[in-house]
Amino acid sequence: MSHPALVVGAGPVGLTLALALHQQGIAVRVVDRAPQPSDLSKAVVIWPRTLELLDLHGCVEPFLKAGIEGHGARIQAGRHVLVELPFSKVQSPFPYALMIPQNRTEAVLTQLLAERGVQVERQLELTDFSESEGGVSAQLSRADGSQETMQCSYLLGCDGAHSVVRHHLGLAYSGETLESNWVLADVKLDGPAAPDQVAVVWNPDGILALFPIDVDRFRIIGDVSGAEAADPTLEQVQTLVEQRLGPGYRAHDPIWLSHFRINERKVDRYSVGRVFLAGDAAHIHSPAGGQGMNTGMQDAFNLAWKLALVLQHKAGTQLLDTYSQERSAIGDQVLRNAGVLTRVALVRQPLLRRLRNLLFSKLGRSRRLQRRLVQQLCETDLHYRGSALSPVLAASGQGLQPGDRTPDLPCRAANGDTRLHALLGGGRFVLLSVGIPLPPLEPSLERDWLIAASAAPQDGYVEGRTYLIRPDAYLSSCIASAEQEQLLTLWDQWR
Ligand SMILES: Cc1cc2nc3c(=O)[nH]c(=O)nc-3n(C[C@H](O)[C@H](O)[C@H](O)COP(=O)(O)OP(=O)(O)OC[C@H]3O[C@@H](n4cnc5c(N)ncnc54)[C@H](O)[C@@H]3O)c2cc1C
Repeated sequence: MSHPALVVGAGPVGLTLALALHQQGIAVRVVDRAPQPSDLSKAVVIWPRTLELLDLHGCVEPFLKAGIEGHGARIQAGRHVLVELPFSKVQSPFPYALMIPQNRTEAVLTQLLAERGVQVERQLELTDFSESEGGVSAQLSRADGSQETMQCSYLLGCDGAHSVVRHHLGLAYSGETLESNWVLADVKLDGPAAPDQVAVVWNPDGILALFPIDVDRFRIIGDVSGAEAADPTLEQVQTLVEQRLGPGYRAHDPIWLSHFRINERKVDRYSVGRVFLAGDAAHIHSPAGGQGMNTGMQDAFNLAWKLALVLQHKAGTQLLDTYSQERSAIGDQVLRNAGVLTRVALVRQPLLRRLRNLLFSKLGRSRRLQRRLVQQLCETDLHYRGSALSPVLAASGQGLQPGDRTPDLPCRAANGDTRLHALLGGGRFVLLSVGIPLPPLEPSLERDWLIAASAAPQDGYVEGRTYLIRPDAYLSSCIASAEQEQLLTLWDQWR
């Protein structure tokens, strides 16, 4: 029997993709070669945009219960605060960074899948695959050496930075490994560190970043350029903290002491035929900005609705090409931003360092820049403007532009009062008329992938316009209400 989708890898990205596909009625199998989930805390933050997407799928609550709220970030030069970034400034129902270790994120995702009857199949490794007309044949190997050949319509490679799927596709993972060495410690920390703030401290001898990851625990990372690449001892971490944060801190009870180097790499296409890549299999970047896992989870949300519509024969396979176009552009952007942040932080030359600090201290006082940096960190500024799925049909004027993220708002659908985002999670589009009562959808306009709704004008949503909103809460396009037929006809090219 052929399965619709095989997800290879039960890291945060594979689990998110499986969950989003299941939510949209697609049967999935998830396999992972590891005997058990990783217990490492790796990515420690889920940003507001990822929380919004989890919320669309009706599953944000268990994450909120499992994490703590981070309310801001600050960049300091020694003790001098250069930039304060209050997350409360972000326009989102989740105006904070959710601080949550990656192993807990994965546990919540695994539990949500189990509640829906999907179990991760462990000690099952993808070793080979081949694509033929109408499907993919995947070779899976068990720990006891037995083999299974599985037929699936789509193979989804969420198998991390050393992706077997990417290797088999022959895709180059272009980029570089930076020279600097970094140490990492998850410890309890006595002292005056704010329990709800990310602090990045630039010192002449290096960087120290502090992330609250639990009620009594912090992630510390610091560059130790010039030193041997090795896991630090607790004493070395304590010395680093004293040198770069000052006296009055005591690091103790470590649960993870490690070291890493920064890779900046990406494929230039995220799919070949019926095989797709998402997460670290497709892109890897500096942890500056903490966006690796978040970007991967958002890859998954982008792919899931498109795949679901295609598998349900509500859209043609050409829709799937837009996954690579849209997400590769976002990958480039995240890679660029994280790269700049890292290089700026690593400046060592005294004169350049002074200039940098002066510039940041000046910029730090600009409200506009503050807002931009907060949005960038929170990923609420990501958009698909210019995508083939975001055609500009008429001068959009003020308000949301095709490709923009669509904020939630109260609206009315055939079943009564509701909210826009509550209508989206099931994988259907919403045709939203603003400032006019809900028009019954003309029979000629009825589509099985569409829900009609109406709303009062609100920030970004302009009276007299109709908005076609994608299942992942981005605006496809908009037009004067009287011409809504044109909007839908246009979408028929993807059928
Ligand atoms: C120290 C550190 C700090 C980080 N901090 C952040 C942060 O603050 N914010 C952030 O967003 N990101 C951060 N990241 C990045 C984040 O951890 C990764 O982006 C994330 O783990 C990627 O998830 P993934 O699901 O794509 O891949 P992975 O988590 O690597 O999962 C891949 C899975 O695939 C399985 N697998 C591999 N090959 C096969 C195969 N052939 N068959 C079957 N299964 C297979 C593996 O066993 C694994 O379970 C950090 C990473 C590190 C190392």
